[in-house]
Amino acid sequence: MNIQAITFHHLGMRLTTPFVNSLTTIQDREVILIEMIDEEGVTGWGECVAFSSPWYTEETCGTAWHVMGEFLAPRLLKESIYHPEEVNERFSMVRRNPMAKAALEGAVWDLWAKREGKSLSVALGGVKEAVAAGVAVGAQESIPHMIEAVRERVEQGYPRVKVKIKPGADVEVLEPLRNAFPDLSLMADANAAYTLRDIERLKALDEFQLLMIEQPLAVDDIIDHAKLQEKIRTPICLDESITSFEDARQALELGSCQVINVKLGRVGGIVEALHIHELAVQKKIPLWCGGMLETGVSRSQHIALASLPGFTLPGDLSASSRYWKRDVITPPTVVKNGQIHVPTEPGIGVAIDRDQLQAVRIKSQTVVAG
Ligand SMILES: [Mg+2]
Repeated sequence: MNIQAITFHHLGMRLTTPFVNSLTTIQDREVILIEMIDEEGVTGWGECVAFSSPWYTEETCGTAWHVMGEFLAPRLLKESIYHPEEVNERFSMVRRNPMAKAALEGAVWDLWAKREGKSLSVALGGVKEAVAAGVAVGAQESIPHMIEAVRERVEQGYPRVKVKIKPGADVEVLEPLRNAFPDLSLMADANAAYTLRDIERLKALDEFQLLMIEQPLAVDDIIDHAKLQEKIRTPICLDESITSFEDARQALELGSCQVINVKLGRVGGIVEALHIHELAVQKKIPLWCGGMLETGVSRSQHIALASLPGFTLPGDLSASSRYWKRDVITPPTVVKNGQIHVPTEPGIGVAIDRDQLQAVRIKSQTVVAG
């Protein structure tokens, strides 16, 4: 295929409720959607999941806009692409910037799958008709508010709930939650809020039968996580620390985690995620798909990814309505009996809601072949 034009749509979205974690509070969510058109007029969509500020990883919407426009997009417009697997190689002259790379690679996959008449799930080797939903509940102003927020999600049918923790708001939150929901599949995400000096505090979390604890230590660490995993029973899941297949391989070799959270933006795209999947299946390491407070474009890619056999745990895959009054896709993602249907239509399997796109767009920029 010959990509003729790539348009970056810079959107300003508003979450239905503010999301609070150990580092920041997010209510206004900047988003960059990628629209890619080939010589036959087929359109592929991708999403850059970087946040406005570098609290999660170092990329931001601003850095991604720059890197995609100046360095990555021109490399897709230069020559024909036969398969999306070639994209990684084209981008190899740019170090890191995984979210910028994944955004463009994702649009190429959507475009290619549409041309092939295949759903993204089928194109990636997916085997499930539906994937388990899950939800992340941000920090709340009090324990009763937290219990209420979790109860609401349980009543909506989510089979697994994740809460955010940090020192001073861990045992204090998890103990009343566990008492209120003795059988709930519950996990905790620290977004790197601890160090090895907190080992006694982290050991104390073992009694709450958490499904796992996500990213307790530094984002760039895999050594201390291995030391911590030896001392605690709760399985460690790595999120921020895994930015590539190589990170995953090294973490598993060191015993730094027992579970991996895969986010396409964080690991640099679909091909890298497929390599991690292959390794995880071989090593019998369970995977799940994370979420980035993203729109339906990125979520649809994650639903396709979660339909692969190695994604054995419910991900942070929620209904569009959990985040947005009106998503930018149609139909919106819905959760039924704790499950999300995997689209069978070509590509990501959902259309862009052009009216909503226009309503929330701040600016756009197009790069053309030439
Ligand atoms: Mg996380």
